[in-house]
Amino acid sequence: MISEKMKAYVAGSSAIRAMFEEGKKMAEKYGAENVYDYSLGNPSIPAPERVKEAIIEVLNEENSLVVHGYMNNSGYEDVRETIAESINKKQGTNFSMKNIIMTVGAAGGLNVILKTFLNPGDEVIVFVPYFGEYRSYVANFDGKIVEVETDDQFMIDAKKLEAAVTPKTKAVIVNNPNNPTGVIYSEEVIKAMAEVLVAKEKEYGTSIYLISDEPYRELAYGVDVPYLTKYYKNTIVGYSYSKSLSLPGERIGYLVIPSEIDSFEDVLSAANTANRILGYVNAPSLMQKVIAKCVDEKCEVEKYRKNGEYLYDNLVKFGFSAVKPQGAFYLFLKSPVEDEKEFVSKAKEFNLLLVPGSSFGKSGYVRLAYCVSFDTVKNSMPAFEKLAKAYNL
Ligand code: PLP
Repeated sequence: MISEKMKAYVAGSSAIRAMFEEGKKMAEKYGAENVYDYSLGNPSIPAPERVKEAIIEVLNEENSLVVHGYMNNSGYEDVRETIAESINKKQGTNFSMKNIIMTVGAAGGLNVILKTFLNPGDEVIVFVPYFGEYRSYVANFDGKIVEVETDDQFMIDAKKLEAAVTPKTKAVIVNNPNNPTGVIYSEEVIKAMAEVLVAKEKEYGTSIYLISDEPYRELAYGVDVPYLTKYYKNTIVGYSYSKSLSLPGERIGYLVIPSEIDSFEDVLSAANTANRILGYVNAPSLMQKVIAKCVDEKCEVEKYRKNGEYLYDNLVKFGFSAVKPQGAFYLFLKSPVEDEKEFVSKAKEFNLLLVPGSSFGKSGYVRLAYCVSFDTVKNSMPAFEKLAKAYNL
């Protein structure tokens, strides 16, 4: 007797679960090295050695009752101060520990901030294609997702955004670098978006909060990723160490809530409370202490760039069409046939596992998560070439 809402969620996630199970079965049948699984955004670069050292250091050096104890729902103050200073150093901002709330990854942070803001029926704008989980996170609080199409380079179209904002628009989610497209919104694109939001806030007399979902911030291939608090006052940043330090299972991230946003004190206490009552209580304590020691660790982003470039160059050579990724570890490939699910099934015949674009609100495309080994990318080329030939490309 599960709830109606959960029935819909379960139905929605069954496709991804089925693909996961199918991948496992195929690996057993053909051998893992002969299956090219581009379906999951699980980092393939191990966490930096410093993470392991920091775990041991924290356990050896700090009081166990502190390391494993409850703390303020927003997280340890020393950790939040270290993170604020690290952002200030990199971005020239002026945050303090007060502006940081430690969260259970980016997903936890998004749920906290959406719970903070949404009344039933409030609208949340997302740019198509988008991370499919946003649908569930917004539905968790009875909000309404409003999809806004991007241009042919997957860039935000300010005119389309302008047409979509209503008096009920409470938030806009922007994800940069982007899952599933791998594109990075430039300063120019961000400025145009901010201009629209400022004008609409004025027109309707509302506050529209921009939620910048940034788990891929560190995964940029030499391209600048604008820090959105500098372009739009009502911005909240959600960050995560899942991809930058390859720690997705550890569930650690943070929200930045700048003092300048409308109703700052109310938003802050609501987010702190939301962290508790959503059942997270607080972000994992040991990991908070560990990442405070690792704020300057670098991600070996070059490896992802190499995969992305090799994949893009060869797929284009085989006749496929895509926008070249500038970051993250995703490539959004145009399906040669309108029904991309048919294309995904055909790809499976060549042991290629891809995700249909409809999971990201955009049919006619498929997503490749190239956070796999370079050998996997290289070895998958004959399969892609055969797939291209199957469609006479
Ligand atoms: N946002 C985007 C765009 C993602 O791609 C992901 C994970 O893949 C998340 C949020 C959730 O990340 P986390 O593991 O930090 O919760």
